[in-house]
Amino acid sequence: MRQSKSLIPTFKEIPAGADIASHQLLLRAGFIRQTASGIYSFLPLGNRVLKKVEAIIREEMDKIGANEMLMPALQPAELWHQTGRWDTMGAELMRLKDRHDREFALGATHEEVVTSLIKDELNSYKKLPLTVYQIQTKYRDEKRPRFGLLRGREFVMKDAYSFHSSAESLDEAYNDMYQAYTAVFTRLGLNFRPVIADSGAMGGKDTHEFMALSEVGEDIIAYSDTSAYAANIEMATAADQYETTDETMQSLDKKATPNQKTMQEVADYLQHSLDKGLKSLLFKIDNKFVLVVTRGDHEVNDIKLKHLYQANDVELATERETQQIIGAGFGSLGPINIPEEVEVLADYAVKYVRNVTCGANEDGYHFVNVNPTRDFQVSRFEDIRFVKEGDLSPDGEGNLHFARGIEIGQVFKLGSFYAEKLGANFLNEQGKASTLLMGCYGIGVSRTLAAIVEQYHDENGITWPNQIAPFQVHLLVMNSKKEEQVSLGDTLYQLLLDKGIEVLYDDRKERAGVKFADSDLIGIPVRITVGKRADEGYVECKLRRTGEQTEHHQAEVIEYVQ
Ligand code: ATP
Ligand code: MG
Ligand code: MG
Ligand code: MG
Repeated sequence: MRQSKSLIPTFKEIPAGADIASHQLLLRAGFIRQTASGIYSFLPLGNRVLKKVEAIIREEMDKIGANEMLMPALQPAELWHQTGRWDTMGAELMRLKDRHDREFALGATHEEVVTSLIKDELNSYKKLPLTVYQIQTKYRDEKRPRFGLLRGREFVMKDAYSFHSSAESLDEAYNDMYQAYTAVFTRLGLNFRPVIADSGAMGGKDTHEFMALSEVGEDIIAYSDTSAYAANIEMATAADQYETTDETMQSLDKKATPNQKTMQEVADYLQHSLDKGLKSLLFKIDNKFVLVVTRGDHEVNDIKLKHLYQANDVELATERETQQIIGAGFGSLGPINIPEEVEVLADYAVKYVRNVTCGANEDGYHFVNVNPTRDFQVSRFEDIRFVKEGDLSPDGEGNLHFARGIEIGQVFKLGSFYAEKLGANFLNEQGKASTLLMGCYGIGVSRTLAAIVEQYHDENGITWPNQIAPFQVHLLVMNSKKEEQVSLGDTLYQLLLDKGIEVLYDDRKERAGVKFADSDLIGIPVRITVGKRADEGYVECKLRRTGEQTEHHQAEVIEYVQ
């Protein structure tokens, strides 16, 4: 593609409102543009990368026998009523009406549609198991769309659904999918980890999240330094995880049962959280949340935090109420002066409060992740263990460490939930009607693209891995006023095209400095510069990631590139 004829609008400035590398670089390098909050256009370069990511996913899905199809994004409300999700999805589900006043949702996911479709087509065990998938745009009215493609309101997802006549068959499909996801993310060059996740409301079913390791990730994972144990923070703090062996319990020095935290444990937890830079604590006492700001610029934090919590429908106790509840010395807006007040608070929590809830906002390192919203989840003290860096891993092997991750995919054994709600039965071998079992499997395609940029960039721009780079070669003519450079550039462009190599040809009448800067920003793996030695047939070749530079004769260029 000739750059002079393409839409690659690059710029130097850091775009306002873009806080993380992938968001900034994808905008600056001309891969995406925002249309509205959480809604993006993929420009030609972004579109090329997206299609490459999709192609890798497609290959791995097809390998395990999944069937690609395409379902509607516009879905009738009745289906969502049948599963109860019209109500439980809340504000995240985008809703609209047609001209006849009939209600619809824009697909946030496709369990309803696929189950109701399959129930009419799969009536016998002979047709099972079956796995279908699609790559499609999803809509979720996220409370806080942010970080560019990482949390959008319109985004591309690969979602797959499997249907089974037995639990064993579901296990098999789940394992296949788990392996396929591992293959996909490995091929994409990501540093990732599958972690045990909490199946939440669905209850008791297996689920794993695939996390791309990244400091900007919204999730926290806990992993053992010697064993394969890795879990998201919700699972790692679930108390029942720790009741595995006597040995584990002993080495955790757990004197109390999980339901009765000792004051020391609570105090240790608070202290540890404070040491980790936690900025606020949230206690639920007598149905009111008490916010305690622990450090930092109180005035700024207080206001910000209050807004954050209130935006999440949390009813905060007033300062007066707080003081009535806890006693003088604590205000919902007052700082804790560690360590004395931590102990007093912990003492109070353990002695007097039956329904204590503790959470932490994302400004600080938090070990308790809170629901009902992303921004803080509240767990009851009874349900959680306070896990610290260096604690024994729940499997008894090695010590726990924490890292931040971006959830790029999830595999989930749904069991019979959707099939029951939607009446999806099949005839089993005995000729009896029985409920289908299901699994569902998602990959955030556009989020994954951004996660790759988080892991592949330097101070000058993106450093795409070869397999998904928008082009393999960036060919530059340094001085387009020099005829011999243009002529060699044109020759090489044609040669590369003839060999089937994807090449972006910077034939623009720009200064060399501008071209080099754009080239670094865009991040194509190989750069070939036609410059001063064009008349002798020599060009300069440079690898984007390593910066390794070599000179080659035009006759050797193809060999170098391949
Ligand atoms: P999150 O916890 O980040 O909100 P989720 O658990 O709600 O994600 P799933 O329902 O598991 O998401 O959807 C499958 C995949 O779709 C996720 O693993 C993630 O990669 C991607 N995804 C989910 N929400 C978004 C979003 N708002 N923007 C981009 N990708 C998303
Ligand atoms: Mg979500
Ligand atoms: Mg999630
Ligand atoms: Mg998920």
